[in-house]
Amino acid sequence: MRISAQIIYNLFAPSYCEKRLFFAYHKVKALEPGPFEQLIYKLGLRHEENYRRSLGQYADASAGNLKERRAITQKYITEKVPIIYQGVLYENLTINNRLITVVGIPDFLLYEEGRYKIRDCKLAKQVDEKRHQEAIAQIKIYGLLLEKMTGQKVQKMEVVLGDNRLLDITEVKVMDPEEILPRVINLIEKENPPYSPVGWSKCMGCGYRPICWEVAVKSNDVALVYGVDQELACFLREQGITKIADLLDNYDDTSLAEVNRPWGEKIQKVGKKAQRILLQAQAMQEKRSILIKKINLPDSNNYVMFDLEGIPPYLDDLEKIYLWGIQVFGEKESPYLPALAPIEEEGDYQGWKKFLQNSQKIFEDYGDIPFLHWAPYEKTKIKLYLRRYGDIEGVAERVLKNLVDLCGLVKEALVLAEPSYSLKVVEKIAGFKRTQEEYGGNWAIAKYIEAVETEDRRIRKSIINKILKYNQEDLEATWGVFQWFKKEMASAPLTR
Ligand code: SF4
Repeated sequence: MRISAQIIYNLFAPSYCEKRLFFAYHKVKALEPGPFEQLIYKLGLRHEENYRRSLGQYADASAGNLKERRAITQKYITEKVPIIYQGVLYENLTINNRLITVVGIPDFLLYEEGRYKIRDCKLAKQVDEKRHQEAIAQIKIYGLLLEKMTGQKVQKMEVVLGDNRLLDITEVKVMDPEEILPRVINLIEKENPPYSPVGWSKCMGCGYRPICWEVAVKSNDVALVYGVDQELACFLREQGITKIADLLDNYDDTSLAEVNRPWGEKIQKVGKKAQRILLQAQAMQEKRSILIKKINLPDSNNYVMFDLEGIPPYLDDLEKIYLWGIQVFGEKESPYLPALAPIEEEGDYQGWKKFLQNSQKIFEDYGDIPFLHWAPYEKTKIKLYLRRYGDIEGVAERVLKNLVDLCGLVKEALVLAEPSYSLKVVEKIAGFKRTQEEYGGNWAIAKYIEAVETEDRRIRKSIINKILKYNQEDLEATWGVFQWFKKEMASAPLTR
């Protein structure tokens, strides 16, 4: 049996999942990587290449088959070559009483003070006990292999982070090979895939999503219930509660609230969440929404729909909003008013300024009208930009005062028969249809970076137009959901 240190990634990324590791080892076919996954891959390669160039001369061990590469790596090590690129380390290790060949290909081996150290490039800007454990596990396995190969303790294990900072992980106290390798072998040697509950955010970026969700939906898996977290799903399964109906048959608000299930390293009661979980289960079982509270919606003849597109901090130097989209809907509709951060120095500030100008114009034309947005992202980012650049004539503060989180209101009033309250899910219930086949926050990020990097103005314009269309349709979808929500509240009977 042979495993590569690289396989550990499947256990941790894009989310922790033991089933993904099993699937990957057994070569179960996954979805082709989408634009976002391709972007991450491309940026990773570029980061490594830039760093390699900065090192000057090095010995290249990247060509040939594994055996040849291992032989050349061994030769370079014996000769004490100062920098070895993509050397192959492989050793037979006894793991779980079996001889397993473990292969590792660190980006760089550097000879310093009589010993080799390992240096690996990672796109992440934070790697520690909690974040990007897969990177630590992988590099520590390289360390173990190098020790076996050279008979010497590794001088140091380092990560070149996405912002080029050098991080020493030699003393990091997690993900030791003695712990992680037996765990990995145990999982991949199972006859069948291990159980791992599905979860909306856990599975959305995973290539095995169609397989797992089809099985979960067909079997009415209790893990589909919104509010049933991974630990609770595993606990319920151990009690024989696998289907949504089992949950409803075996628990009421009080008994579910009393359930003690693992929560990280602690044990925690389900507590107050129990009532909502059972309502969610009921809605899914009966395939209908349940109105639990009639709430007063902000009353206005016109409403601003508001949606942002941003780049997370690990993909850029700055956590950046590159598109601030607003449009008034209602009696007197406005045109779509996007504030797109220009691709230039100070573009980030220019985008913010333009958004405030657009908002100012709306206040002048309509007065203080509600700015409807979906989930807390928009509020958080306005606060971030207020700290970063300050306000202009109090407009940002005024926008903040007029913000209304429509997602929060929907959750307060309605229990949907869905595993998620993301806009893309709720808009479908509201009957909204998009015109673009490809869309989504991650898709837009990948496209935006493609637009930033192309020199071809025509291509850039065409990509930006697609992103604008996507953002505009987010606004239309929010408005569609608002209209549907008002009707639901007016017509559905209250159940509690
Ligand atoms: S789809 Fe979800 S459950 Fe299936 S392998 Fe991926 S993360 Fe795991």
